[in-house]
Amino acid sequence: MTVTTRFAPSPTGILHVGNVRTALHNWLWARKHGGRFLLRIDDTDLERSREEYVGGIRADLAWLGLDIDGEERQSARFALYEAEFEKLKAAGRVYACHETPEELDIRRKVLLSRGLPPVYERKPEGAPVPEGVVPHWRFRLDHDAPIEWTDMVRGPQHFEPKTMSDPVVRRADGSWLYLLPSVIDDIDMGVTHVVRGEDHVSNTAAQIQMFEALGAKPPAFAHEALLVGAEGKLSKRLGSLGMAGLRGEGIEPIALVALLARLGTSDPVEPVTSPVPLIESIDFARFGRAPARFDEGELALLNQKILHHTDHAAVADRLPAAITEARWNAIRPNLMTVAEAADWVPVFDGPFSPPPAEAADGVVLDAAAAAAPAIDWANDPWHALTGAVKEATGAKGRALFLPLRRALTGRDHGPDMAELLPLIDKDMAVARFSAA
Ligand code: GLU
Repeated sequence: MTVTTRFAPSPTGILHVGNVRTALHNWLWARKHGGRFLLRIDDTDLERSREEYVGGIRADLAWLGLDIDGEERQSARFALYEAEFEKLKAAGRVYACHETPEELDIRRKVLLSRGLPPVYERKPEGAPVPEGVVPHWRFRLDHDAPIEWTDMVRGPQHFEPKTMSDPVVRRADGSWLYLLPSVIDDIDMGVTHVVRGEDHVSNTAAQIQMFEALGAKPPAFAHEALLVGAEGKLSKRLGSLGMAGLRGEGIEPIALVALLARLGTSDPVEPVTSPVPLIESIDFARFGRAPARFDEGELALLNQKILHHTDHAAVADRLPAAITEARWNAIRPNLMTVAEAADWVPVFDGPFSPPPAEAADGVVLDAAAAAAPAIDWANDPWHALTGAVKEATGAKGRALFLPLRRALTGRDHGPDMAELLPLIDKDMAVARFSAA
């Protein structure tokens, strides 16, 4: 059986990091097993679903590198749902209900006030049906069949169907709720592993009986602990943190992938430049039960670390032409984002005016301006230059290096000067020493 997973977002908003994490785990699992990763657009709610969000979901997955092996839309599959629904109806596993929301609400309150669980009470067989009320539909749980599964994250799970309400699967207007179409699709698409958030655990209990009622073996389930903000809560910020925003901040897709793959697992977050090690290592048994904490600061830091060993070829299409491979290699240990590379173009090619030097540094800079023209720029000019200046002035350490670095780059910190200097035109370097 081909391992088949699916990511099933409702196109009612943009994907946030929490959704993306679920998508990623499904993708990693499918890739690890040479299987299929499907995108299922859960757009049964035609009112709230928007085409622009469908486009956004596809674009975000593509940006993250999560390639899909097929896409389905629930809105194109209503005929299948109808047919399966009729089968369940004929078998007595779905039944018509006529209560109004108000009646249900009162009943709930009565039960709660008596200290009883607010479980839906079925009407006795043959109870009178109110006239003129269009029914909605519930799935009849089998009270005699305890529900059990071994969750890949949570271990053995047990639910007593007697303690659960028969779930509503279809509204009076004929529209579908999430539960049943999802099961019908998982069967029809051959889904072998359902990976989703732990907020779906009780849905799973009901859905397992739906799989069985439709004559199918339920898939394996992995319910992952939810993602929370660094402060430990499901923050508003996290819920609204979309891919466009992260991309705008200079976050590389692989940084987000590297973080979300391992967050909340017992495997360390590592600055990988390819998803291959993440595919190899994914293992739901190593996922923790506590909420995973997402920290934007940690993401920024990981992004930076990843850039430090990212090859020029991987980012060349986003770099100014002036940032050649050698220049990229010199500056990448100091970048937070790829976009920052552009700030270095004037350092290499001008126009660049060094900041005014401190009086005490004048001697060093004059010596550098005097020594530089005779230095062979093709052969480790930094050591030749600092050697000559040291000999001429007696300056050493910080007093020697800092004025030169400042005059050349305008900064106190930055790339290894031995690597950087040969990449700056010699005449330009001399001019900077004289001008500073
Ligand atoms: N559309 C559902 C959701 O976004 C899918 C849940 C599932 O993976 O089955 O919650």
